[in-house]
Amino acid sequence: MLESRNVSVFYGRHRALENVSASVAKGEIVVMLGANGAGKSTFLRAIAGQTRKMDGSTVLMDGADITHRPAHEIVETGIALVPEDRGIFADLTVQENLTLGAHPNRARQREADNLARVLSLFPKLRERPKQLVRTMSGGERQMVAIGRAMMSAPTILLLDEPSLGLAPLLCTELFRTLARIKEAGVGIFLVEQNAKQSLAIADRGYLLDNGHIVGADTAAALAKDEKVKAAYLGE
Ligand code: ATP
Repeated sequence: MLESRNVSVFYGRHRALENVSASVAKGEIVVMLGANGAGKSTFLRAIAGQTRKMDGSTVLMDGADITHRPAHEIVETGIALVPEDRGIFADLTVQENLTLGAHPNRARQREADNLARVLSLFPKLRERPKQLVRTMSGGERQMVAIGRAMMSAPTILLLDEPSLGLAPLLCTELFRTLARIKEAGVGIFLVEQNAKQSLAIADRGYLLDNGHIVGADTAAALAKDEKVKAAYLGE
């Protein structure tokens, strides 16, 4: 279980997040919805140890305090982040990108098992180990990015707007894959603007507005909520 308690982040004097408390358990999909600039990426970066958090912020992984640990140690606790820019190397091949994901200590001994698991999740990657990532489509690159993160054998996967820029059909495929990753016991915390498809696969959700959590409920309840419909579902 990954849990944030009262996490606050300032950029200079700009308050990007204030007292954000949220959690995700293994085998659960949780979505955080919010408009542009609400602070969603900041929240994921804060959890992953990539942004300084204010005093009073706490992040717990399986009960252990990881609030002030550096990013590379946080990866070793089983948390992997796929950033909005996807964090992959365009001039390397699929295989090379996946191998880079196996760098953390927790992954090295089981690299072959992890690779087999990733390739079963993304059969397209199995067909094209030598393809340069820059020659791949947006959807395929997203698969490489998630595959690379899965190579560290995470128990919690953090995804920053994975559906951004993907054609509708690829979005559907992506969300289906996330459901399969969940079935394998991994917890997924994703931030999204695509409310409809993310709520359809999520168990729970949070609404983030201007750095604050303004709502939290089951995904089914959020999908029916009039305010959510108006703000995020365009209905
Ligand atoms: P988007 O969906 O557009 O990526 P977001 O919800 O992920 O938005 P953040 O990227 O977390 O939002 O940004 C939250 C606020 O913090 C915004 O006002 C943004 O301009 C500001 N911000 C983000 N990163 C920095 C930074 N490194 N320095 C200063 N301000 C920043």
